[in-house]
Amino acid sequence: MPLHFIVIGNPIAHSKSPQIHHAFAKQVGLDICYQRQYCPNDDATFTAVVTAFFAGGGTGANVTIPFKQTAHQLCQQTGKLSAEAELAQAVNTLYRQDGVLVGHNTDGNGLVNHLHQLGWLTNKVIDDTSNAPKVAVIGAGGAARGIILPLLSAGIRHIDIANRTISKAEQMIADMQAQANEIDDIGRLFAQASLSACAIDALAGEYHLIINATSAGLSDVRLPLSEHLRCQYAYDMVYGRELPFLQHFAALGADTSDGMGMLIGQAALSFERWTGKKVAVSNMTLK
Ligand code: NDP
Repeated sequence: MPLHFIVIGNPIAHSKSPQIHHAFAKQVGLDICYQRQYCPNDDATFTAVVTAFFAGGGTGANVTIPFKQTAHQLCQQTGKLSAEAELAQAVNTLYRQDGVLVGHNTDGNGLVNHLHQLGWLTNKVIDDTSNAPKVAVIGAGGAARGIILPLLSAGIRHIDIANRTISKAEQMIADMQAQANEIDDIGRLFAQASLSACAIDALAGEYHLIINATSAGLSDVRLPLSEHLRCQYAYDMVYGRELPFLQHFAALGADTSDGMGMLIGQAALSFERWTGKKVAVSNMTLK
């Protein structure tokens, strides 16, 4: 009997998750069936889909736009949440443990693993406190929120968060600090960190890494970047298209990457959580 998995979203037809997870299963010799699950955009139907899937023997579900926050709320009410999901206030990975629904978020660690794979977060960079790497995250939506804890856990101590709506970045930092205080080790991590909010065009100077966590690239929008902004590495979470953000920094001499490696990285961590099997991601390419 194959193990059953789904990815729930709306829209969902474009999702590459079945392709990625079937490649992982082949790599480790597991028989799986991973399908796309369309869901109308209402919370009650999402809950019914999740409940029916696990009642029918499903092993794991991925959750994507627009249900990550709904899945977080569902686990708050009826299950458990990992620290990553709690801080992100979003769930992208669901499974059952001892009969209880568990919500986890692998997006941020998927990104961090990809940054390590690219060689952009070497131990030398992270341990060199005299020259601590400055990282900027542009965006204050769900994706930005999900990467802050994993970046801090990876050793980054200074993150400037820039957003079109500054108040959302300020609120995000305040919320995360308050939540982190409730969790021992994570409270300490946030206490040692310097997080600040600003407008996108106020970001200036030299950064080790700038991560675009906005959806601007999906509609070819150019962010209002200062002419005084520089970085060694530029990462855009969007993938599968030409990205003005990456073109901008490539022209200034930075190394660049889109978010395909993050997509594969988050999938690998979900797969590991569900099956206990680690997979190699470095040579993986998607059509
Ligand atoms: P949200 O809708 O929660 O947030 C969108 C963010 O983008 C906000 O900060 C918003 O700013 C900003 N934004 C949108 N349009 C513009 C614009 N024209 N100019 C400036 N800022 C803009 O989306 P998510 O956070 O969930 O996702 C963001 C992106 O990350 C998506 O494109 C998604 O595809 C990608 N992603 C990629 C993953 C991967 O595995 N590679 C995983 C998860 C997400 P404001 O607050 O002012 O509205």
